[in-house]
Amino acid sequence: MPHITVTRAAFAVSLASAIGAFAFMRGARAGESYAVTHTDEQWQRLLGPARYQILRQNGTEPPGSSPLLNEHRAGLYYCAGCDLAAFSSKTKYDAGEGWPSFYSVLPNAIRTRADHELIEPRTEAHCRRCGSHLGHIFDDGPQPTGKRYCIDGLALKFVPGRSA
Ligand SMILES: [Zn+2]
Repeated sequence: MPHITVTRAAFAVSLASAIGAFAFMRGARAGESYAVTHTDEQWQRLLGPARYQILRQNGTEPPGSSPLLNEHRAGLYYCAGCDLAAFSSKTKYDAGEGWPSFYSVLPNAIRTRADHELIEPRTEAHCRRCGSHLGHIFDDGPQPTGKRYCIDGLALKFVPGRSA
């Protein structure tokens, strides 16, 4: 019986890693290369479970949960994965959707890809430098861009001060 227990444990481990590999393949990082890279274990250690789920597993935080929704100071929002400046407080606005929203992004900060996880296709946004998932982009934002960058607060670090 102990032998069977071990075999089952080994099977569970290999199944878990297969699922992990699948999640990786369908993630923002498939087929792209980034200046900042870490192993999956390093990412988990660096980010902690909540940020890891968003940034590396394409997760979405519950609407209304981010303290950044009430952040109205001038400053910059950095990728929580690699500290690349991604958004300015100048373009932040309240979209009423429950996630920090911006109508523009800083130059050369993000890359996008088509996201077909929901029935209606969305544009996924991830960090140009480390590939971490940040959120989604919609076409119902305010002028002058008409874009809504709907970003998970856990994917951002806010630093008050200069707003670029
Ligand atoms: Zn990054």
